[in-house]
Amino acid sequence: MKKQFAVIGLGRFGFSVAKTLADFDFEVLAIDSNEQRTQEASNVVTHVVQADSTDEEALRALGLRNFDVVVVAIGQDIQASILTTIIVKEIGVPKVVVKAQNELHGKVLKKVGADKVIYPERDMGMRVAHHLVSSNIIDYIELSDDYSIVEIAAAPAMIGKNLRQLDIRAKFGCNVMAVKNGDKMNIAPHAEDLIKEGDVLVVVGKNTDLQHFEVAFA
Ligand code: ADP
Repeated sequence: MKKQFAVIGLGRFGFSVAKTLADFDFEVLAIDSNEQRTQEASNVVTHVVQADSTDEEALRALGLRNFDVVVVAIGQDIQASILTTIIVKEIGVPKVVVKAQNELHGKVLKKVGADKVIYPERDMGMRVAHHLVSSNIIDYIELSDDYSIVEIAAAPAMIGKNLRQLDIRAKFGCNVMAVKNGDKMNIAPHAEDLIKEGDVLVVVGKNTDLQHFEVAFA
């Protein structure tokens, strides 16, 4: 059985989530209280309903109980976002993902039962800043507040050296988990493995240590 998704709030973020899921051929129920927003979405996703998500009866009538994942993408109206999250959790949706405006909003969402809180602007801002600091950074995944994984293209200073010579663990306190090259993935790199042109290092570490590492090879 394919997963069933619903997206509540069709602003820029919610619309993009709904459209991408539809592009993956998933059935998506998109809900917004605004008529124009629902009309725009109707060309893109399977089911679109104009409804106020703070109206519990309306959500129950839509059968939201049967959905695997509900994304609450109401940004500006924090009260509506919190109420909607409470209702959707009470209805019994197993996974509720909610977009938060700020840290305090995020804390409240966690308290009322959101399974995952996301901060799209904050996270995108971090990504862009990492790319600006080092053009070698390909991706950046936050593991917790303090730890992340970065994918970094091998800098010219790394090429032809092995991991022992680069001494990343001792110098920066970070760990090279894997080395990718095209489709090839070395998930247990040895100290003697040479870094080649086109390699991508997958490095895990504390954010502060990763920053030192990124800047050193920028
Ligand atoms: P973004 O920053 O992603 O564009 P917005 O906060 O501008 O997000 O958009 C949120 C969307 O959520 C809007 O389309 C708005 O009509 C919708 N929305 C706000 N409150 C409700 C509600 N109570 N029920 C349903 N949709 C809502």
